[in-house]
Amino acid sequence: MKIGVLALQGSFHEHQYILEQLGVDTVQVRLPHQLDDLNGLIIPGGESTTIGKLAVDFGLFEPLQRFGNKHAIWGTCAGSIFLSKDAHRNQPLLGLMDIQVERNAFGRQVDSFEIDLDIPILKTLNSQNLPFHGIFIRAPLIESVGKDVDVLAKLATGRIVAAQQGTLLATSFHPELTEDDRFHRYFLEVAQ
Ligand code: GLN
Repeated sequence: MKIGVLALQGSFHEHQYILEQLGVDTVQVRLPHQLDDLNGLIIPGGESTTIGKLAVDFGLFEPLQRFGNKHAIWGTCAGSIFLSKDAHRNQPLLGLMDIQVERNAFGRQVDSFEIDLDIPILKTLNSQNLPFHGIFIRAPLIESVGKDVDVLAKLATGRIVAAQQGTLLATSFHPELTEDDRFHRYFLEVAQ
């Protein structure tokens, strides 16, 4: 099992640290050939416009699309925006997931917040049925999902903050900034 973390910008070290704690072989991905022997890829939080532009500059855009058609990818926050097909802005989007997102849906940096979420799918991990602590930093909302997309988590308002389409996962929040590795373990199951 080898998992890549897209390392162009954002919280890639934090993802890599959690994967290494779980005993997973990891690689920082900056060039297309580094995708070759991976079982899955994480696209971290950061700034989706920057990640998208750098992916284009590094010749990674089409290789990432091809990779995501066959393998697991999980995008957190900015990564979920980059995976989406529509973010209401003119910026490079992989368009792999049939989700429409609203960037910065909760406001500015000062409006960032933390909240406990109920994520039923994590119960399949034989873990305790505890809420998952969601950290939202200038986070997007998943406004709407296509018919092949499952909703994994919602806020009390009913707005969607985590979704899955086959082996593609999107979360508006940052599990890599918590000490709870359940979402990473779930991704490893999906990527297997
Ligand atoms: N606001 C950022 C964007 O739109 C995402 C922020 C994050 O990844 N924490 O790309």
